[in-house]
Amino acid sequence: MKILVINAGSSSLKYQLIDMETEKVLAKGLCERIGIEGSKLNHTPDGGEKNVIEKDMKDHSDAIRMVLDALTDENYGVIKSMDEISAVGHRVVHGGETFSGSVVIDAEVKKALEACIPLAPLHNPANLIGIAACEEAMPNVPQIGVFDTAFHQTMSKEAYMYAVPFELYEKHKIRRYGFHGTSHKYVSLEAAKMLGKKPEELKMITCHMGNGSSITAVDGGKSVDTSMGFTPLAGVVMGTRCGDIDPAIVKFIAEQENLSLDEVDNLLNKKSGVQGISGVSSDFRDLEAAEAEGNERATLALSMFVESVRRFIGSYMVKMGRVDAIIFTAGIGENTPVMRKAILNNLEAFGIEIDDEKNAKAIRGAQMEISTDSSKVKVLVVPTNEELMIAKETLELVK
Ligand code: ADP
Repeated sequence: MKILVINAGSSSLKYQLIDMETEKVLAKGLCERIGIEGSKLNHTPDGGEKNVIEKDMKDHSDAIRMVLDALTDENYGVIKSMDEISAVGHRVVHGGETFSGSVVIDAEVKKALEACIPLAPLHNPANLIGIAACEEAMPNVPQIGVFDTAFHQTMSKEAYMYAVPFELYEKHKIRRYGFHGTSHKYVSLEAAKMLGKKPEELKMITCHMGNGSSITAVDGGKSVDTSMGFTPLAGVVMGTRCGDIDPAIVKFIAEQENLSLDEVDNLLNKKSGVQGISGVSSDFRDLEAAEAEGNERATLALSMFVESVRRFIGSYMVKMGRVDAIIFTAGIGENTPVMRKAILNNLEAFGIEIDDEKNAKAIRGAQMEISTDSSKVKVLVVPTNEELMIAKETLELVK
């Protein structure tokens, strides 16, 4: 069975076609600048070269048609006809409180997704457009929605409520939702396999550290707490996002800098984090290079990131009373031994011991255990694969 995974953004659309018998990616690609001049499709068949197809895409329907053409193309296609696509799995950012798992998309689901737009005004409309475009191009193929928020719907009230007037929760659903759920779920399941245990038996802390970062406490296979909140702005220090700050700072910046609320929001989302502190870059590769050259603000930015991740790890250890494994994933988690070491430094008293040699050797794309043999808490590097997780959830629902 072949499943098409779609991740639609406001002007982009990423896709992967996955063969579920082998879990192999048959082709993947990206439509860029949809609705903007100079739109193009990058399409890469498995084992083949990247093809760049420059053609006007006035909307997402055009983009989907181009994707289907590319997948069935004589030269660089990977299937004979689009009838070979059994189902489409859509990444949807926000499922609000309605969706605690993946769903087959129908009219009612779409209505519920529309109701979630105020919670994710940038992402959900794009996801809905992607769904509509696929329905139009493939009317008989089941469309499945897989939500970034769904995995965290198992949090208890004390974990997800904010101490603002209760009526605001009732009226506007202001609460912690959490994000990166597909990734936290995937790596926690893979980690359980690596440890030869059932997810139900394990208490884990999963650290998804990329452009956006979030830390999750996974107890018995369920998310019980997570660092992101009502939006993906909360939690740890990120590439350009501030993470947790005193909420009173928002009003203070607006007044002192004469900025509108929208401008402050933009500043906290796009000009803060390690970028804002260092003034160098949001990319950890650049920051490590700047630090090596003696840039003190780059060092400060990296230390603040480390400190913020440690704060959540400590809090989740207390919450769960025990931790069996700590998992690192995504761009930073998979690629930076220095960050992994700094985050878990000096925690031997808590049974956490990193093996420096194994940590240094962990290579991109491979699952690795990087703790010492005597470490009570296992420390694992697990490459995330959100597309495969979406395809697996999709398969479950159409089987
Ligand atoms: P996203 O969060 O957008 O999905 P990724 O998970 O791929 O992105 O993370 C991207 C980030 O990972 C980059 O901005 C960079 O900070 C970090 N990163 C990627 N590769 C490396 C590397 N080799 N060394 C250090 N940091 C890296």
